[in-house]
Amino acid sequence: MINPYDWIEQSLATIHRAGWHRAVTTIESRPGAIVQIEGKSFLNFASNDYLGLAGDDRLIEAAIAATQAYGTGSTGSRLITGHRELHRQLECAIARLKQTEDAIVFSSGYLANLGTIAAIVGKRDLILSDQFNHSSLRNGAIVSGATILNYAHCDMQDLRTKLTQQRSHFQRCLILTDTIFSMDGNLCPLPQILDLADEFNCMVLVDEAHATGVMGRTGAGCVEHFGCTGRSIIQMGTLSKSLGSLGGYVTGSSALIDFLRNRAASWIYTTGLSPADTAAAIAAIEILQHEPQRREKLWQNIALFKQHINQHSLELLPSESAIVCLQLSDVETALRVGQSLRDAGIFAPAIRPPTVPTSRIRLTIMATHDRQHIEQLSSSLNRVVQ
Ligand SMILES: *Cc1c(COP(=O)(O)O)cnc(C)c1O
Repeated sequence: MINPYDWIEQSLATIHRAGWHRAVTTIESRPGAIVQIEGKSFLNFASNDYLGLAGDDRLIEAAIAATQAYGTGSTGSRLITGHRELHRQLECAIARLKQTEDAIVFSSGYLANLGTIAAIVGKRDLILSDQFNHSSLRNGAIVSGATILNYAHCDMQDLRTKLTQQRSHFQRCLILTDTIFSMDGNLCPLPQILDLADEFNCMVLVDEAHATGVMGRTGAGCVEHFGCTGRSIIQMGTLSKSLGSLGGYVTGSSALIDFLRNRAASWIYTTGLSPADTAAAIAAIEILQHEPQRREKLWQNIALFKQHINQHSLELLPSESAIVCLQLSDVETALRVGQSLRDAGIFAPAIRPPTVPTSRIRLTIMATHDRQHIEQLSSSLNRVVQ
């Protein structure tokens, strides 16, 4: 008899041989600029908590108060027993932040992408997707059953060529893109994408996961940064990065949101967000809007870091966001640099294939880093890489 599960160990061995095996790291403290790992303090350059809100007392208090008022779980899907006034408050706050007609919150950003893409396109439709899009966009495209064409990263000529050749063979067409690419830190050319969408009668869904709270005058994201507020775009994002909570959102026209409440399976057939997560996200949006100085501090830190890095002439990938990547030649070098940084008390892990095509150290800057943190990172990087 052959054991039908034997292939799992063989596959794991292959993953190990390729240097692709990964395991979790336990963070033993509240999230923040400094975290505890294995009883030691580390400078944290690995978090997506760009504004430092995940450990903020006001979010924690809001979560506790909501838990006391409404319990720990929402006990059912939003359409049955899972809906609370808090959910509606959060959706209205997101719509106001984004200046759109309405919004809907999902249990995660990943589920927001899966459910939305699969609801709005199907077998007879075409999806054009940036080759470096997040896994949730790529898998949402697969789940939808639409024909998928990947265009070269941010390459508008390639997008135009594919639209010219293919658009007429399909009913609806959807263009998918991250606005800030999560493993690189660069921005998509949003105005050009929207112009092509107009020209070829396409819908556009943008993933603002790393842009919300970071980009734009009011922190609304890249759509605001590019002056595209008010254009017809389906915007999604997460509550789990700058907003320090858990959950995802989609925002756009009232018709779109009402349609998703009726057709997005990953919203209909899953339990509503917990009261604690919902209340924490509401508190975060309020802080985002009333404390622009947090965003300003973040951008000062990003500028300071780039200034130091230029002095040391280290090679960074192009970045216009709080995600800054140090390009490295191979997996072994990336792992070695990641470990040396760790030995120097800095937490900034190596990101390697298959997540990205080339190995790198991915650094994320936060508003709660101070000048010394940034200086320590720069000098350690310089020492470790030379
Ligand atoms: C993190 C992320 C998501 C998923 O959001 P979650 O709320 O963590 O599920 C989606 N898209 C991008 C680009 C992301 O970085």
